[in-house]
Amino acid sequence: MDDQKWMARAMELARCAAEVGEVPVGAVIVSDEGELLGEAHNSPISSNDATAHAEVLAVRAACERVNNYRLPNATLYVTLEPCSMCAGALVHSRVGRVVIAAKEPRAGAAGSVINIVQHNQLNHRCEVEFGLMADVSAALLKAFFKARRKKSKNSINVNKPDVSAVSVSGSAE
Ligand SMILES: [Zn+2]
Repeated sequence: MDDQKWMARAMELARCAAEVGEVPVGAVIVSDEGELLGEAHNSPISSNDATAHAEVLAVRAACERVNNYRLPNATLYVTLEPCSMCAGALVHSRVGRVVIAAKEPRAGAAGSVINIVQHNQLNHRCEVEFGLMADVSAALLKAFFKARRKKSKNSINVNKPDVSAVSVSGSAE
C-alpha cells in the first residue's frame, strides 16, 4: 500500500515545521489515482494566520491543483488528528478518506473530543483510519515541546512566573 509512503511524506513535512519553530504537523492529499494533489506543514506562527494549519493549507493547494472546490475521492494523510477547524474543512471539501497518525486527546475532531468528520447531522462523512506511524508523530511532537519548554525556561526572567509552560502544555496545535 502507498499509505506508508504518503504518511512518511507527511512526517517529513512535520519535521520541516519543527525546523522553523512551528508545531510539527504535516498533511498530504493524494488522488484515488495516487497523484499528489497538495501538501503543507503547519505555519500559523510564521504566516500570522490562525487558520494556517497543515490540513487547511493542503486542502487549498489540492483544490487549486484540481481546479475544483471538492476532493471527493482524495485521501488526506495527516500526522496529528485534525482540530475542529480542519475537520470542518475536510467535510466541506468532501475528502473521502482521512488517514491519521497520532491522536490529539485535547482537541482532536476525528473522534477524540468530537467527531466532525463523521458527524451524523453533517452532509458528508469521511472514512477515518488511525495509527499509521503514530509513534513517530508522537515522538516528534514530544521532542518539539520538550525543546520549546527548555528554550522558554532559559530565556525567561527568573522573577516572572513561567506562563509559557502553561500555553505549551495547553494544546498541540
Ligand atoms: Zn487544524
